[in-house]
Amino acid sequence: MRYGIIADIHSNLEALQSVLAALRERGVDEYICAGDIVGYGADPGACIKKTREVCQVIVAGNHDHAAVDLLDTEYFNPEAKKAVLWTRRQLSEEEKTFLKGLKPTAVRDGFLVVHSTPLVPKEWNYINSTFDAYRNFKAFEEKICFVGHSHSPMVFTLNTREHLCEHTSDTKVPIFDEYRYIINVGSVGQPRDGNPRASFAVYDTSLKQVEIIRVEYDIKSARRKIVAAGLPEGLSLRLVAGI
Ligand code: ZN
Repeated sequence: MRYGIIADIHSNLEALQSVLAALRERGVDEYICAGDIVGYGADPGACIKKTREVCQVIVAGNHDHAAVDLLDTEYFNPEAKKAVLWTRRQLSEEEKTFLKGLKPTAVRDGFLVVHSTPLVPKEWNYINSTFDAYRNFKAFEEKICFVGHSHSPMVFTLNTREHLCEHTSDTKVPIFDEYRYIINVGSVGQPRDGNPRASFAVYDTSLKQVEIIRVEYDIKSARRKIVAAGLPEGLSLRLVAGI
């Protein structure tokens, strides 16, 4: 089986289309979304439609829940908050019901999918260090956990014999029997690791490998739509630098 794992689309339709085309090219069998379909970008409705069409599994992100008032925006920065309120006005009742119904975690074929952390999914914390990762490895049973949320692709491994947790920046990660993995697949629609190209992962169960892949997309068009929608200009500018 070949799984395509995407996260943090953030209403960026141009990025989503590029990523889906790349996944199709790679002959992916199933599509998984680790949350945050909406927020920041100008195409919430079209991104919800496309994601629902292709993904067999979709979990909730903090922006998905904030957009339907299930999460207070108190801790959102001013630009994010503006985007949440704008998004809320664009969504149909049916789209709101769909977002409200998303669960924080899902299990598929021996792997866990969660937007933030397996430890406390709805507190929306980050896994940014081996310290964070080690605590989180204790909170789930599956071999692999795919996450999003930080918008930076990141891989943590746990050697189950030696209880040693490490970080790797390799983009091709072999899946070994004696190891477990927490894999942040990066962001489709708003990468923040200084690389503006859209990020996603392919998990090939017969090859026993997870690969993190980057693709170009039409940033100009996504930026133009953000400005035309009256969303904060900073949300358009950051796409260029990937921050
Ligand atoms: Zn996000």
